[in-house]
Amino acid sequence: MSTSTRVELALLGIRGTPPVHRTGGAGPSDDGHLVIDGLAAAIPRNADSPFVFDGDRVLRDGEDIGIGVESVGRPHFYDGATADGVSYEKIARLHGRDVLATTVVQTCIRYRRDQRCRFCSIEESLRVGSTVAVKSPEQIAEVARAAVDLDGVRQMVMTTGTSAGADRGARHLARCVRAVRAAVPELPIQVQCEPPADLKVLTDLREAGADAIGIHVESLDDEVRRRWMPGKSTVPLAEYHAAWAEAVRVFGRNQVSTYLLVGLGEDPDEMITGAKQLADAGVYPFIVPFRPQQGTLAVDVDHAPAPEAAVVEKITREVGAHLRLIDMAGADQRAGCAACGACSALSTIGG
Ligand code: SF4
Repeated sequence: MSTSTRVELALLGIRGTPPVHRTGGAGPSDDGHLVIDGLAAAIPRNADSPFVFDGDRVLRDGEDIGIGVESVGRPHFYDGATADGVSYEKIARLHGRDVLATTVVQTCIRYRRDQRCRFCSIEESLRVGSTVAVKSPEQIAEVARAAVDLDGVRQMVMTTGTSAGADRGARHLARCVRAVRAAVPELPIQVQCEPPADLKVLTDLREAGADAIGIHVESLDDEVRRRWMPGKSTVPLAEYHAAWAEAVRVFGRNQVSTYLLVGLGEDPDEMITGAKQLADAGVYPFIVPFRPQQGTLAVDVDHAPAPEAAVVEKITREVGAHLRLIDMAGADQRAGCAACGACSALSTIGG
């Protein structure tokens, strides 16, 4: 599959609802999970898209474009429930083809209307009852065991809404990691959180058993950060750089990553330069197109459009070329979004 086709799919989406899909929640959502030309792909669902998947092919305006597709089947573990009656599906979800993902705390101190990230809908899935606010370590460990045994899940992502404490939610993450590590020792785990005020927490997460970490800044441009992330931008970029550096020391080169969202207004060349610098420092820059989705302020209030395909493709190509040059591949992360790759086009060019 060409990079330009992958970028178009990421921006225009597909018609229909594949068996594994997300609606609302942390990070990119409102998508269907497919395997396209052998690579995991989380593609937005869009009733107006020219693309539709038809069994094992992708059609564009009714014509076969020569791309092989498999939809990911509904996992068996979704049918389970904890002893206290909570559906496993409300505790963790299948992402891509073999990633178990959970948001351990589904609320965020920044979710007030004047503070929240304008692209985020973390509390929407809670509002519609498709998840629970706080998942206990025991619940997550039970679901992880079932997902590995019943569906062959190969890695796990644990993210969290930001808490009021100085650890910004990392301590509960560490408890959850420890529980999963005890129940499913073979399952690699990535954690995702804001930079904790006390960087020692990063060592705690590693010692609890996390294999990789995502510390997601989304934009390296302070003006963009203030506009799109009024609450989160109060954490200075310097704190991100300090956390990334310590995380690389603790977790290792290319076991640390950050999302960079294309389409928030950041200058493309500055994003490319910043992404290359991060990669050189051992932090994988996960280039993801901004995805307009219902339930976010970006769509409901700002009516913000998806980015232009040419811009996404340019940034993806140039960052991907640099990643290849320095021998840094998302697939080499032990776990996490970079290892999954479904929300980015970088994996189509080997980055
Ligand atoms: S890249 Fe991350 S958010 Fe996207 S499908 Fe994979 S695990 Fe989920």
